[in-house]
Amino acid sequence: MTYHVPHIINGEKVTSTGRQLDVYDPAVGKVVGSLNVADKNLVDKAVAAAQSSLPAWSAKTPAQRAKILFRFKYLLDQHIESLAHLITQEHGKTVPEAVGSIQRGIDVVDFTCNIPYHLRGSYTDEVASGMDSFSLRQPLGVCVGITPFNFPGMIPLWMFPMAIACGNTFVLKPSEKDPSCSVKLIELAKEAGVPDGVVNLVHGDKETVDALITHPNVRAVSFVGSSSIAKYVYETAIQHEKRAQSFGGAKNHCIVMPDADLDEAAEAIVASAYGSAGERCMAISVVVTVGDDVAEKLIAKMKPIIENLKIGPGTALDIDLGPLVTKQHWEKVQSYVALGKQEGATVVLDKSDFKPAEHGHGYFMGGCLFDHVTPTMRIYREEIFGPVLSVVRANDFESALKLVNEHEYGNGTSIYTRDGYTARTFVEKVQAGMVGINVPVPVPVAYHSFGGWKHSIYADTQMYGAEAIRFYTKLKTVTQRWLSRKKST
Ligand code: NAD
Repeated sequence: MTYHVPHIINGEKVTSTGRQLDVYDPAVGKVVGSLNVADKNLVDKAVAAAQSSLPAWSAKTPAQRAKILFRFKYLLDQHIESLAHLITQEHGKTVPEAVGSIQRGIDVVDFTCNIPYHLRGSYTDEVASGMDSFSLRQPLGVCVGITPFNFPGMIPLWMFPMAIACGNTFVLKPSEKDPSCSVKLIELAKEAGVPDGVVNLVHGDKETVDALITHPNVRAVSFVGSSSIAKYVYETAIQHEKRAQSFGGAKNHCIVMPDADLDEAAEAIVASAYGSAGERCMAISVVVTVGDDVAEKLIAKMKPIIENLKIGPGTALDIDLGPLVTKQHWEKVQSYVALGKQEGATVVLDKSDFKPAEHGHGYFMGGCLFDHVTPTMRIYREEIFGPVLSVVRANDFESALKLVNEHEYGNGTSIYTRDGYTARTFVEKVQAGMVGINVPVPVPVAYHSFGGWKHSIYADTQMYGAEAIRFYTKLKTVTQRWLSRKKST
């Protein structure tokens, strides 16, 4: 029995007649569901629903909106396990990983519960004699969110709660590979009291995205996905006079210094590189060791940890590594492992052909580790997005830093060291948006903001936190003068 994933427009579940796409359970390699691609007509309906719900929603006070978002947060807390199971079924990551990702989304909803404070303006008394000035932030209108497969709950929760908290209405287009979690999120938002039409959901691929980002009544577009599509979405949305922010791919480097605690670094790097099967935009995918001695020792410590990772379906207990999301993505990652060998990298570990017993048709693979990777190799330059880690050897800190800075991506990066001066220099000089010191996945908490540099982002503002308040609002500044009434004599 397979299920059908509906669109949600104006609070109603809608099935359409557009092209049908299959949804897979990657642990068994079988179709479990389907969706229909929303065409231009359906996108028009979703945008119209968002447009007509805008006046009433934006007229609510921030405190009234916060009250609803607080109920939404409560319901998310109650349903975190069922949301996680929806993610595992279609994405493949383990249930604890899925729970953790939803929690990161709930943290952002938590931030929105304080929206009256975050929307406060500023006031200056007496900018001139009898004259004052103040500023306020107002909503943009209908906003759109387009999200990737790797965080089917967290990234939608980074977008629409922030947008609607600011008084906007929303149309979400999640990844067509794992769409079910979004349906549940929108159902919970409705149950929390978000009025029909304030958040709408359409499924699809490029056809749907193009209809959304060129729609005349859409005011802002948030996108997360691979860099080439991020750039395309950003440029198209800007050409169509929308405010846009697009977040792209990554190749996150971790520098390991000779004074680092190598046991701690080995554990942390393996967890970062192979967790969620490497399908995380903040995963470490390159380790830059400073000195051959560090490389030898670190590899000797990481190898047995990688070998012992337990691989299996994400719903099973004590699993470290679930399957990759689709057969197509599995083939892409496999082709990079083959390419690494062709390019002359040293194979330390290749478990790419590993399949857990009884799951021969799932899109599983074990961890792979390459040493002596060089900056000219494609396995170094390109994003692989799987359980494949490259070690690049550098002679000193300066050449390690240069590698990070010359890479086209600049999402996250980290350093393992016990030396404060080296850490401080790294923070100051490194060209990346999110930096970790002895922290392997430096994702900012919800009250800071998330975003990379270079080809990892096409935007002026980052996601969630104060940056999202700026993105989802227009600033208005008022200069006022109240002449004192002349007294009649
Ligand atoms: P993707 O670019 O294939 O798809 C992302 C979204 O774009 C999906 O909703 C998809 O339907 C849509 N899309 C696909 N092709 C399109 C096209 N030609 N035109 C318009 N829209 C299109 O990305 P993915 O494979 O789902 O996700 C993995 C990528 O996302 C990786 O590159 C990863 O690094 C990146 N990512 C980045 C961040 C970040 O914050 N920087 C976070 C998570 C994931």
